[in-house]
Amino acid sequence: MANQTVHPLDLNFQGRERAIGAYLIPHSQGAALVESGPGSTIPGLQKALAQYGLTTADITHVFLTHIHLDHAGAAGWLAQQGAQVYVHPVGAPHMLNPEKLLHSAGRLYGDRMDMLWGEFLPVPAEKLNTLEDGQEVDTGGRTVTAVFTPGHAEHHCAYLLEGYCFTGDVGGVRIPGYQYLRLPLVPPELHLEKWEDSIHKLQALKPGKIAPTHFGIFEDAGWHLQSVLDTLASVRTWMEEVMPGDPPLEELRQKFSDFLEAEGRSAGLEGEDLEVLMIANPTWVSADGIRRYWRKHCQTSL
Ligand SMILES: [Zn+2]
Repeated sequence: MANQTVHPLDLNFQGRERAIGAYLIPHSQGAALVESGPGSTIPGLQKALAQYGLTTADITHVFLTHIHLDHAGAAGWLAQQGAQVYVHPVGAPHMLNPEKLLHSAGRLYGDRMDMLWGEFLPVPAEKLNTLEDGQEVDTGGRTVTAVFTPGHAEHHCAYLLEGYCFTGDVGGVRIPGYQYLRLPLVPPELHLEKWEDSIHKLQALKPGKIAPTHFGIFEDAGWHLQSVLDTLASVRTWMEEVMPGDPPLEELRQKFSDFLEAEGRSAGLEGEDLEVLMIANPTWVSADGIRRYWRKHCQTSL
């Protein structure tokens, strides 16, 4: 019997609630997950599943929105427990062989890699499934639809299920209780125009609920998606003001962090809630992403 519910699972990343989530979709033969979380939160995942009387052996499908470590790191481990893993075709080679992905993440996070992300095991070929845009996957009587949504990463894929839209990172980062969101503007594939197009695509599908990986289920889908577009526009305005001055990286990181902190405070965020947003979506990473995007796509060569 299909169970028409979706449960947010808090993976308790770095001992914080609401920073990284996965979504549990119970079905007639077990349960599916949207996202695996990183390797470092496998104990958090096990604990969250236990609340529903489940273990990782009950997970039949893992739908990854993209292959960044906070979303996909534990997928190989779950595949070893029996789950089939679904991913955009451009992300698939990195799940089979994560070496290059881990090398590039290592450049960003240095010796904090293990502490933050834990182990990233490869997904065996027989457990790895590539998706097409619009593909429907039956999970024990419940149908999950893939929606390719580039912008945050070229290989980003959102999922629809019964009015829910699992937006991964393309729907931004938000915590319950606020009408405020931020965008993870990470290198190396950030692309603001593609991101806008992806949001228009999601708007046309008229989801009723938005479930971003960072974090929670939001019922105001119309407001949420429009706010992503407004935030993209405000980031562009900020970028066009600041980037022509070519500030050194540390200065740029500080300026962007100040910009977001002022914005967050005016939306009523403070204390622990602001910290959780920073842990889920560090502003320095976004400053690096903006810089790379500017140099690649906006700066006119002299
Ligand atoms: Zn990401």
